[in-house]
Amino acid sequence: MSTLQANVVTPDGQVFDAQVNMVSVRTIDGELGILPNHIPLVTPLAIGAARLKQDGEVKMIALSGGFMEVRSDEVNILAESAELPTDIDITRARAAKERAERRMQEAKQENVDFRRAELALKRALNRLEVAKR
Ligand code: ATP
Repeated sequence: MSTLQANVVTPDGQVFDAQVNMVSVRTIDGELGILPNHIPLVTPLAIGAARLKQDGEVKMIALSGGFMEVRSDEVNILAESAELPTDIDITRARAAKERAERRMQEAKQENVDFRRAELALKRALNRLEVAKR
C-alpha cells in the first residue's frame, strides 16, 4: 500500500512525522481527506481534529488552525497549536471551556470579546473530543 509522509509542526516544534496511508483534516471549507498521489494544494485549516491512518490504526491530533500543504507523497501541516491525545491536559481544557462560556454570556454577540471567546470554546471542545481517544 502506498504511503504519504505526514509532518505536523507548530511554532513550538514537531508534533508528528511518519508515513501514513491517509490524512483527514478540517479545512475552512469542511472535511478533506488526502490519499497518496493527491493533487498539490495549500489550504487554511479550521479548529478541528486531524486523523492520520497508519496500518489500520487512526491517530488523532487536535489542531487550532494553520495551513496544510499537499504534494504528491507529502503532507505538511503548519498549525497554530497541535496536541496528541496524551498531551492534552483535560483539566485545563475544561477550565478554558467554562471560561469561554462565561465570557460568551457576558459579552454581546458580534463584538470582539464574544468572537474571541467563541474561538476559545471551539479549541477547548476540540481538545476534549480528541482527548477521549
Ligand atoms: P488556554 O486558555 O488553556 O491557554 P488556549 O486555547 O487559549 O487555552 P492556545 O493559545 O490554543 O490555548 O495554546 C497555547 C499553547 O498551550 C499551545 O502550545 C497549546 O498546544 C497548549 N495548550 C493549550 N491548551 C492545552 C491543553 N488543554 N492541553 C495541553 N496543551 C494545551
